[in-house]
Amino acid sequence: MRKKIVAGNWKMNKTFSEAEDLLFGIADALGNGRPDNVEVVVCPPALYLELANDVATEHNFRCGAQNMSEHESGAYTGEISAAMLQSAGVEFVILGHSERRTYFGENDELIGKKVAQAIRHELTPIYCCGEVLAEREAGKHFEVVEAQVTGALSGLDAKAFSKVVIAYEPVWAIGTGRTATPQQAQEMHAFIRSVLAKIFGQKAAGDTTILYGGSCNAGNAKELFANSDVDGGLIGGASLKADEFVKIVNSF
Ligand code: PEP
Repeated sequence: MRKKIVAGNWKMNKTFSEAEDLLFGIADALGNGRPDNVEVVVCPPALYLELANDVATEHNFRCGAQNMSEHESGAYTGEISAAMLQSAGVEFVILGHSERRTYFGENDELIGKKVAQAIRHELTPIYCCGEVLAEREAGKHFEVVEAQVTGALSGLDAKAFSKVVIAYEPVWAIGTGRTATPQQAQEMHAFIRSVLAKIFGQKAAGDTTILYGGSCNAGNAKELFANSDVDGGLIGGASLKADEFVKIVNSF
């Protein structure tokens, strides 16, 4: 079902006590007022998920992991499985983030396996896609994003696909302070919906939640979220300060 979501990706930031401060800071700031039609998701490093889930449950927000294994269980040192996340009460998992693609060699085939595995364990995958600057400058951004969406998601059946949230994150906007314009975001989100319509049908495409990510902050979120195909944001740097993050939530 299509929803409004603001999700924070903390990446590899915060010590334990800093994570506690941020979680309780978010809880307090949300307590001062928030729109009730927006789902708030916090994605801390895996080590803090249990704590995050306790705080989230009490304060009506949700928790997500930043990655997980495509395997069910077994001899995969250092990995975390979908079953583990599910058993810890985690509801979301970010998959295919550009940093995973760039630094850990993840490709659409692998990410597609992770997406399917997440759904098997009733997690909501937030599937990230987006072009690098050279691809946009060469006018290949639509082609690249279509290949990513098709490559990782077209193997799902319609029921499984209905669980997927998509995040369009142009790589040139991630952590750079260079946000996509509202027009660029809307244009790509509408295009992604048209790609989804070809694979899964018009209704499924219309029902999909598509988030924007890439230097989204309290100053630009309102303009981005005002677009008809932008259903919220995946927020990196600006999710590391409770007040700023909750201002983004309140931008709807
Ligand atoms: C991200 O990493 O998902 C992201 C959107 O980062 P930032 O908001 O810092 O650009």
